[in-house]
Amino acid sequence: MSRECRMCREVVADEAMRCRHCTADLRSWPRRHPILLATVGLSIVGVLLAGSVLLMVAHSWAKELERAAAKGPQQVASTGWYLETDKSVMDDSPKVVVSVLSNQDVSGKNPQLVVRCEGSTLDIYVDTRWALRPEDGNRRTVRYRFDGERPLQARLLSSGNQQAVFFDRPQVVAKKLAGARALALEYQSLTWGEQTVTFPVSGFDSRAVQRCLAH
Ligand SMILES: [Zn+2]
Repeated sequence: MSRECRMCREVVADEAMRCRHCTADLRSWPRRHPILLATVGLSIVGVLLAGSVLLMVAHSWAKELERAAAKGPQQVASTGWYLETDKSVMDDSPKVVVSVLSNQDVSGKNPQLVVRCEGSTLDIYVDTRWALRPEDGNRRTVRYRFDGERPLQARLLSSGNQQAVFFDRPQVVAKKLAGARALALEYQSLTWGEQTVTFPVSGFDSRAVQRCLAH
């Protein structure tokens, strides 16, 4: 079998790698340019990889935006507070939850101070994350203190799951929170004994809650 040299048009052997007349390289294009081929191949792989990374980033951004649109807890700038706004499924009445975690954790979980407006009712409670030590009735003895003020002892209503205590007169407590830097709470945990935790409450903004209550 034979063919024509593509440079000088002389007849050359089919399997010849070089023309015996003009010494032209008779190998196929990819064999003559292995480095160029490898470079192009790697570039394509690189573009595909970069493309999939971009897709993943775009996907996570979309998720982030979705979460923001769902109005999950959003941190209030330069404070420890989180704000979450929602609507009642039943009557579209607004629901506002403002919360802050304690500076200390109790066996790996940080108690949470929550100011909540729901159905035009204001609640302020601390979710201690662990069961409180039972007492007679549904109230639990605590002491709390705003900044350097005199500590107050109170028997607060506990939640059904025995982990949270609700402040009486939440409007008064909300007003106190608005001017305070820290709220300390001492309580008795069923498992972990006496606990004292502090909440960094400075920057508390009651406007979202008050708007909700006025609804
Ligand atoms: Zn030739």
